[in-house]
Amino acid sequence: MAWNEPMPPEGSDCGRGRFRHGGGARGCSPGHHVTLYDRAKELGGHLLEASVPSFKRMSPPVRVFKGELGTLEMDIQLGVEVTPDTIRKEKPGVVIIAAGSKPFIPEIPGIGRDNVATATDLLLGKKKVKDSAVVVGGGLIGCETALWLAQQGKKVTLVEMLEDLMIAGIPLRT
Ligand SMILES: Cc1cc2nc3c(=O)[nH]c(=O)nc-3n(C[C@H](O)[C@H](O)[C@H](O)COP(=O)(O)OP(=O)(O)OC[C@H]3O[C@@H](n4cnc5c(N)ncnc54)[C@H](O)[C@@H]3O)c2cc1C
Repeated sequence: MAWNEPMPPEGSDCGRGRFRHGGGARGCSPGHHVTLYDRAKELGGHLLEASVPSFKRMSPPVRVFKGELGTLEMDIQLGVEVTPDTIRKEKPGVVIIAAGSKPFIPEIPGIGRDNVATATDLLLGKKKVKDSAVVVGGGLIGCETALWLAQQGKKVTLVEMLEDLMIAGIPLRT
C-alpha cells in the first residue's frame, strides 16, 4: 500500500496489519487494527510539555484525547523504541511513522553548560530557573515559555534576531 492511498476498510489485509510508532498528536488517531508504539512511558509526545502552562488551557483536551485512546481496542506499547528489527519481526501491512521532531540547538559557545536548558526541559521540570533567565528565540515556544517564567516571578529577557516576535512562521498579524 502506497503512503498516499486512502485507508482500506476495516477487515481488509492492510487494515489488519497497521502499525504506528510515535504516540504524539499525529500517531494517535484511531482506526483499524493498530499497534501503537512509543519509546516514552506516556502518550502525548511534545503535547505533554506544550500543555504545561495553564494559560494555554491545553491540559484538559490532552487528557480527554489520551482517555479516549484508552477506550479503543488498540495495542499500546509504551517504553518501546521501534527499530528496523521491530518492523521485521511484526511484519505489519503498513508502517506509519509519526516520530515527531527534535529541538534545534544553535552552536553558541557555552551551550553545553548546566545553566542552559531547552523549553521542554523547563516545562517538564527536568531543569529549574532560580531567579532570572534569558530566553533565546521569540517564536511561539520562546514567547510562551518567557510568559510562563515571568508569571512565576522570574526576571526574563527575551532575545529574537528578527525585528518582531512570532514572525518566522505563519504571521499572527498582517
Ligand atoms: C514547548 C512546546 C509547546 C508547543 N505548543 C504548541 C501549541 O500551543 N499548539 C500546537 O498546535 N502545537 C504546539 N507545539 C507543537 C506540538 O507539540 C507538536 O506539533 C506535536 O506534538 C507534534 O506531534 P507529533 O505526533 O508529530 O510528534 P511528537 O509530539 O514529537 O511525538 C512523537 C512521538 O514519537 C515517539 N518516538 C519517536 N521515535 C520513536 C521510536 N523510534 N520508537 C517509538 N517511539 C518513538 C516520541 O517518544 C514521541 O512521543 C508545541 C511544542 C512544544 C515543544
